[in-house]
Amino acid sequence: MSEIKDHCGVFGIFNFAEDSPAKSIYYGLFALQHRGQESAGIAISDGQQIKLYKAMGLVNQVFNEDILRELSGKIGLGHVRYSTTGSSIVANAQPIVVETPYGTIALAHNGNLINAQELRSELKRKGVKFSGTTDSEVMAQMIAVSKKDNLEAAITDAFKHCRGGYSVVILSKDNLIAVRDPNGIRPLSIGKMETGFVVSSETCALDILGAQFVRDVANGEMVIIDQEGLHSRTWKMGEREALCVFEFIYFARPDSVINGRNLYEARFDMGKYLAKEHPIEADMIIPVPESGIPAAIGYSAESKIPYGEGLIKNRYIGRTFIQPNQEIREMGVRVKLNPIRDAVRGKKVVVIDDSIVRGTTSRQIIRLIREAGAREVHMRISSPPNLNPCFYGIDTATRAELIAANLSIEGIRKYLEADSLGYLSLKSLVRAISLPNKNLCMACLNGDYPVKIPEKLQSLKLLFK
Ligand code: AMP
Repeated sequence: MSEIKDHCGVFGIFNFAEDSPAKSIYYGLFALQHRGQESAGIAISDGQQIKLYKAMGLVNQVFNEDILRELSGKIGLGHVRYSTTGSSIVANAQPIVVETPYGTIALAHNGNLINAQELRSELKRKGVKFSGTTDSEVMAQMIAVSKKDNLEAAITDAFKHCRGGYSVVILSKDNLIAVRDPNGIRPLSIGKMETGFVVSSETCALDILGAQFVRDVANGEMVIIDQEGLHSRTWKMGEREALCVFEFIYFARPDSVINGRNLYEARFDMGKYLAKEHPIEADMIIPVPESGIPAAIGYSAESKIPYGEGLIKNRYIGRTFIQPNQEIREMGVRVKLNPIRDAVRGKKVVVIDDSIVRGTTSRQIIRLIREAGAREVHMRISSPPNLNPCFYGIDTATRAELIAANLSIEGIRKYLEADSLGYLSLKSLVRAISLPNKNLCMACLNGDYPVKIPEKLQSLKLLFK
């Protein structure tokens, strides 16, 4: 089954000055590139019309000076997208531009709707024609068909039917509107520049522009930015906040801050608690670059075992690199990572990574380090076992593929061929994040899904992807 999943970055600017924000959006998207490498797009309003440019590829492959110059205006938004194979076409790239009774709008979305198929069928029955297959287009069309007095009311009406995790930025001719789903599953932050406001999936993109962090958009909140400034509305009240735990574990950049917690610090603490829970005497702590670095530094600080690089990552590797042919595939992880033989030879090493999904990467890494001459290889993971699939926008495996859903810890250790294996406990993970349990979505770890998953979707995702 090829399913559409959007695991993306969104960025918007309302600029009160004369300068066009296209270049700033470009740099914002550049800072969010880790959230999606498949396509990039920018939509800009000059007060009269909305111009759009989007294409497949990385931000710096999609845009150049000439294209950015063409995108002149005062308000704009951009998007970087990552999706699973099968849906990798430009029609699915964002922003999505649609005509509505409230004027043309552009929409950029990070997250995943769990009822997109039903909404799409309903819209088709009403005569709506779709150009792509994303749930983002469904959201935009839901707004277009909503019969309300104004755009804000139409968005509220449309999103009341949208179930799942979504952080959305919408551009009209005159406004920029930022919306988070009722549980606030995906992050979204607001920043202020001298001449305007910025909204971004992550704060690392505010820093790049010198924008001051103002606050996060709250769950169930709609923030409207217009000529007068910021206005807040609560469009859906009463749901518990359930911020995605995987943003803290792996997805967001370590220099970002979510809900007041810096990701580097949180991951450092995850490593520290991991060392307390799964201590071992060893010669060296090695991170799996780059996702395992902050936790490895934390593990080393707590255990007093020296931290060292034992694996070098090819910096130019991205998710969009040409798929290796069979011969190279057998080399597996070697394309990405190469051990420093002289650093690990004869040593008892502890390898730290943020998570194990299918187990294939960890298994290959352990083999690589052993072949490089390490005496013992111990694996430590700075999050609990990943047991359940995500339905809200993180591209994880199905339950059948998730190794922890199918094997015991000892079974995983054997598969990985590690001398020992230790996972961080859920309790310590939450402590490192410094948010109450109830404000996190930890469905991938504990099966507690904040938005109920329809049975049909569940059974599909449990078996296929
Ligand atoms: P696996 O080989 O499937 O066990 O993959 C584990 C590796 O993938 C770890 O190094 C993680 O940092 C990384 N990882 C975890 N979640 C994701 C994700 N959603 N997308 C891409 N990589 C991931």
